[in-house]
Amino acid sequence: TKDDVKSYLMRNAFVLFTVIAVILGIILGFSLRSYKMNYREVKYFSFPGELLMRMLQMLVLPLIVSSLVTGIAALDSKASGKMGIRAVVYYMSTTIIAVVIGIIIVVIIHPGKGTKENMHREGKIVQVTAADAFLDLIRNMFPPNLVEACFKQFKTNYEKRKFKVAIPPNDTSTVTSIVSNVSEAMEALTRMKEEIVPIPGSVNGVNALGLVVFSISFGLVIGSMREQGQALKDFFDSLNEAIMRLVALIMWYAPIGILFLIAGKIVEMEDMGVIGGQLAMYTVTVIIGLLIHAVIVLPLLYFAITRKNPWVFIGGLIQALVTALGTSSSSATLPVTFKCLEEINGVDKRVTRFVLPVGATINMDGTALYEALAAIFIAQVNNFDLNFGQIITISITATAASIGAAGIPQAGLVTMVIVLTSVGLPTDDITLIIAVDWFLDRLRTTTNVLGDSIGAGIVEHLSRHELKNKDVEMGNSVIEE
Ligand code: ASP
Repeated sequence: TKDDVKSYLMRNAFVLFTVIAVILGIILGFSLRSYKMNYREVKYFSFPGELLMRMLQMLVLPLIVSSLVTGIAALDSKASGKMGIRAVVYYMSTTIIAVVIGIIIVVIIHPGKGTKENMHREGKIVQVTAADAFLDLIRNMFPPNLVEACFKQFKTNYEKRKFKVAIPPNDTSTVTSIVSNVSEAMEALTRMKEEIVPIPGSVNGVNALGLVVFSISFGLVIGSMREQGQALKDFFDSLNEAIMRLVALIMWYAPIGILFLIAGKIVEMEDMGVIGGQLAMYTVTVIIGLLIHAVIVLPLLYFAITRKNPWVFIGGLIQALVTALGTSSSSATLPVTFKCLEEINGVDKRVTRFVLPVGATINMDGTALYEALAAIFIAQVNNFDLNFGQIITISITATAASIGAAGIPQAGLVTMVIVLTSVGLPTDDITLIIAVDWFLDRLRTTTNVLGDSIGAGIVEHLSRHELKNKDVEMGNSVIEE
């Protein structure tokens, strides 16, 4: 019909705009580099991009809560239990596959040569222990104050340890300021080469993991309450619908935001001259690993399980993938991922609402692959021979670190501390790879979002019987009424 044609054209126009935005962003960024903008000018220039980031982040919190609560309340506990187990099995197995790929690739290519002395360093990282980081992860699953969890980052042991951040070197002022926000700090770290204490698992303003745990429990309870829970169910349903409409509005702005996010980053990035041979090899190794996972393993897995064409499915995700590339945050991308999966790929809402918020918080294939790979790279530049047991330790901690990493820019770099500490590698050496992390972060975020989306497709396929039964059941109750 005419409406179908209209929506088809509109959808493709969006995808086209987004792709054009990336290309224009790259061209604009590179052509403005010779102008050598200072810190403030870059900030002004990237402002439209910053706005997109903020708009998306604004929606994340109500989106996570409303979608999880309604998603779970819409299923009975048996169906959601089964779906939950499938999702978790998928998350764990793909994460482990990713880690193994990372390890194999870095051992084969061997980018590190045991000569870190002539490698360029940026900043200094102060050590925290793996045990503390693990405990924080668990601790944060149970936020003592829900309201606080909505606006305050993870509570950690290190909260009181504020870090010192200098004003960027190309700014004339020499004042130092105190920040307690880890993403700001990480940003500062890449720019400012100052001493810094990372807080493991910190989230940009929101304790997402805590909210996920709460929303799942709340949804389960509401689902079991039948009529008594109906009012809450309707409330969260309608909240969810309203948020998705806001997402639709933001999508109109997204291409402009993405253009400036990408251009701004290219304008401010350090000259590639500082990236020595080893770091270049390391970058290539990470890219190869991520490509193997994203372009071969995940599509094959999707095909093997669903027998559907993975490329059609991935084609429907282009906007989400590009948004991930632009924002380097899988949680900021979450609203777009929802849109793509539900509206373009037609994945059942009961599945997306349930598995996407969880996936965006804990399932990070790209991050896991990168953490294992980077840790072994650091061992290589230190001439540190890892035995089999240590490699196993790295795979386990890399998996945990990817679960603990928040879906915000460069969170994976912070949780690297856990992996390195577990095998006694120097955490300071994270500074060796900071120079290229902004770039690799975008690629691993894209892989993370792809992993979450393919997971939703696979879980929907595996849960088709429960979903159908539920439909029949709902249909029955409608007739009975
Ligand atoms: N930026 C990544 C994400 O949002 C996390 C990471 O740093 O690896 O998915």
